[in-house]
Amino acid sequence: MAQVRNIVILTGAGVSAESGIDTFRAGANGGPSLWEQHRVDDVATPEGFARDPDLVLRFYDMRRAAIQTKAPNAAHEALARLDAEWPKDANHELLIVTQNVDDLHERAGAKRVLHMHGEHLNAWCTACDARSRWTGPLIERPPCPRCGERALRPDVVWFGEMPYEMDRIYEALRGADLFVSIGTSGAVYPAAGLVRNARDLGIATLELNLERSQGSAWFGETRLGPASVLVPAWVDEVLAAL
Ligand code: NAD
Repeated sequence: MAQVRNIVILTGAGVSAESGIDTFRAGANGGPSLWEQHRVDDVATPEGFARDPDLVLRFYDMRRAAIQTKAPNAAHEALARLDAEWPKDANHELLIVTQNVDDLHERAGAKRVLHMHGEHLNAWCTACDARSRWTGPLIERPPCPRCGERALRPDVVWFGEMPYEMDRIYEALRGADLFVSIGTSGAVYPAAGLVRNARDLGIATLELNLERSQGSAWFGETRLGPASVLVPAWVDEVLAAL
């Protein structure tokens, strides 16, 4: 492997699949996608929340409780090792951009993580805009710790909402010499478009996934297999080439 200095990594639900956290499932016969048996439109859109807030809050309460029973797998641990061993000097950069709303990258020890779709373990107050660490349920409409209003919702970016920190992601990409996409279907934009941005910038691109993603043709190299096997092997390669 050629030596790289500046890496942007994009992770998706596939990285957490082997920790027992479900990815999205394609609906039968071209029907709507499902997330834990729910239509994505019902539980992951502002319209779904407006229609049935109790359903949405209960759904995220269950997801928030469930992720706290899960543990990082070998893929999260390998990325945390990369983060720990990657030089922290002006010539090297690393950013792990995750679409995942779980906290398994952090629990494995990774530090340079950006949650572009928010976090299950945060609540967002729609009255005062404060974000608070939140591990319990929201269904009983607890007051915001900052302003006291009962206006907390999951701090998760729903379909139709703007992902977080896109400027920082594009800036990191502009300085990168390698873009790696791990365990993501390439179906959710703008994350799915990052590989094309990387290509336009002349950056090397690598996909690690169980199966070819929708944007697979855009990658310079694709490796297929479980993240728990592919990611540790790739991290070994990158660190050996330092
Ligand atoms: P996705 O569910 O659309 O796709 C998952 C991808 O991972 C698929 O391409 C699949 O082939 C691959 N995959 C499955 N198991 C794998 C494994 N063991 N190793 C490697 N790859 C594997 O997920 P996405 O592309 O991240 O987009 C869906 C959206 O769903 C995101 O916005 C995310 O916020 C949300 N989501 C998050 C979580 C989570 O936080 N863990 C879980 C489900 C959905």
